[in-house]
Parts: sequence; C-alpha cells; structure tokens
Amino acid sequence: MPSTSPRTTKIAIIGAGSVGATIAYACMVRGVGQQIVLYDVNREKVEAEVLDLNHGLQFVPMATIEGSDDLGVCADADVVVVTAGAKQKPGQTRMDLAGANTAICRKLIPDLVRLAPRAVLLMVTNPVDVITYVALKLSGLPRQRVLGSGTVLDSSRFRFLIARRCNVAVQNVHATIAGEHGDSEVPLWSSARIGNVLLHEWAVPAHGKMTVRDRTDIFVNVKDAARQIIEGKGATNYAIGLATAKILEAILKDENRILPVSSLLTNYGPLGGARGDAIDDVCLSVPCIVNRGGVEVALNFPMNEAESAGLRNSAERIREAIKSLGF
Ligand code: NAD
Repeated sequence: MPSTSPRTTKIAIIGAGSVGATIAYACMVRGVGQQIVLYDVNREKVEAEVLDLNHGLQFVPMATIEGSDDLGVCADADVVVVTAGAKQKPGQTRMDLAGANTAICRKLIPDLVRLAPRAVLLMVTNPVDVITYVALKLSGLPRQRVLGSGTVLDSSRFRFLIARRCNVAVQNVHATIAGEHGDSEVPLWSSARIGNVLLHEWAVPAHGKMTVRDRTDIFVNVKDAARQIIEGKGATNYAIGLATAKILEAILKDENRILPVSSLLTNYGPLGGARGDAIDDVCLSVPCIVNRGGVEVALNFPMNEAESAGLRNSAERIREAIKSLGF
C-alpha cells in the first residue's frame, strides 16, 4: 500500500566547511528541513561534522543528518545550498574569489541539476552575486529557482548596529542593504524605520537621534564586518548560518517572506530615474518575495536618487566581473 505520510523536506548543503556546517546546525536547531545532507570533497571533514551534528539530535526537532563525499547524497533535494569553494584570506576581497569559485560551479551545477531536478538552488559561495548569475546560466533553470543569500547578512548587520545605536530591539528595525554583497553595497537609509517611524524622523529621549556621523560609522562597520571577523577567527559562520536558515525556512515553508536575496533582475526600475536607467541581466539584492518556488518577484522598492545611482553602480561592478569570467 502506498504510504500516506507527507514527503519529508530535504536540504542538501554543498561544502561542509565553516559556513556549510553552521548552516546545517542552524537548520537543525530551528527545525528547518527534516532531512539534511552535506556533501564535501573532503571525506574526513564531512564525516566528522555529520557525526558531531548527529550527537545533538536528541535536543532538537526531529531530523536526519547524513554526509558524504559522493554527490549522490544530494539526490531529490528540495533545496541545494552551495557553500563550497575558496574563502577570503585576510586582505582579499570577495571578487578575488570569482575565478576559482566559478570553476567549481562549472563542475558541480550541471551534476546537481541532474540529481535534484526539482530543487531551488541557493548560492552562498562568494562573490555571491556573480556566483548566482553563473549558477543560473550553468543550470538552465528558470530565474525564480536560482537565488543567492545576497545582502540578507549585511542587512542583519545593519539592523543590529542601528538597534544598538538607538537602544531598541533589533526585531523592530526595518532597514535594508541592497546591491552587491560586497564593496559597492548600498544602505537604503531613506526607507529605514524603527517600528513605523522613519529613521530620519526618529528622535526619542534615551533612544537617540541618528546623526550624519552615526550613519557613516554604521555603514563603514557593516562593510568592514567580514574583514574584522576574518582577521579575528578566520571565517564568518554564525550569522550567515542563521541568515541562510531563515532563507531556507522561507522557501520550504512557502512563507512569502520579504528578504534582500540576490536574483536575476530584468528591466528593474526605473527607481525614480529615467527608463534607460533600468537594471538588466545581472544578479544583485533588492527586497524580494521568497516562497516555495524560490524568488517570486523583486519588489520595486522606494529609493531616493542617490540610492538608485548607488544600485546602478553596484550592478555595473557585478556585470564587469561576470563579463570577465566569459558569461
Ligand atoms: P571553508 O574553507 O571553511 O569551507 C569550504 C569547503 O568547501 C571546504 O570544506 C572544502 O573542502 C569544500 N570544497 C571545496 N571544493 C569543493 C567541491 N568542488 N565540492 C565540494 N566541496 C568543496 O570556507 P567557508 O568559510 O565555509 O566559506 C565558504 C564560502 O562561503 C566562501 O566562498 C565564503 O567566502 C562564502 N561566504 C559567503 C557568505 C555570504 O554572505 N554569502 C558569508 C560567509 C562566507
């Protein structure tokens, strides 16, 4: 008799390094995905990570965790998260990783699409906007089904710093970093809010009023965060693990959650500018509706002139990198 129990949701994570293993841990603790599998070319590493994770299963929602150096472990996954590849060494930018990580994608992506033909692909490997575009082209999948973690992490760094400056709960700060997950990213100050109050109108005794200096310091800190963490401990993992688990939850639970993920923009804009200013044929982050199909739509978010110009500059930077890779 055919089973009547609902199909379990399966997450496949490619790369069991600092980021991949922490995504698995965050998913496990939050109860995202009933089957989690990790694949890595380093068999000892993936087996050790999976053993350690399995020893914590008693304390979290029901799940199974497997790992292998055989890509077949990813078969029929609902979402494939790619974290494999080179990471920044102190002094390197994310863009410096483009060539090496594109080479890894050329091999991996076609095999993953064959093994998990219904999966949404979620790219985390850096430079994430470039790698998302590369994965989209190599996969042949519809644009909705290939996305990157984008500036979800940068936006959470941004919100944390605003919350700390104004002494309010981070959950009540609504503020977004758009564009490249990297040096040309754009803080959307004009739409930032605490509760329902626009940040530039925020002035509450004991909870601050944001000065120009505060804004500059906060944005410098957001951009500099990865460098600071990498210098101190070699990799960033906890916040990206939680951010990625949140994106996975939005996909697997069909949440229609608004997140600044990276996705292919087509004739996006004009964002307050002229029609010729529209952003086209590049992956970058703007707030998007994320659900079981992946990215349903990129929202035409309100931006002032400076923000739109910043976003177009970011698009140009990413496009140059994509072109230099022959895509
Ligand atoms: P890491 O070196 O700890 O792990 C990378 C893992 O990938 C290693 O275990 C390695 O064996 C594996 N690997 C390499 N080639 C592979 C292949 N062909 N198939 C399968 N596995 C392979 O690095 P990390 O700190 O986990 O970072 C991983 C990536 O994530 C880097 O590119 C890093 O820059 C990126 N990252 C992105 C964000 C973001 O916000 N998008 C945040 C942090 C890190």
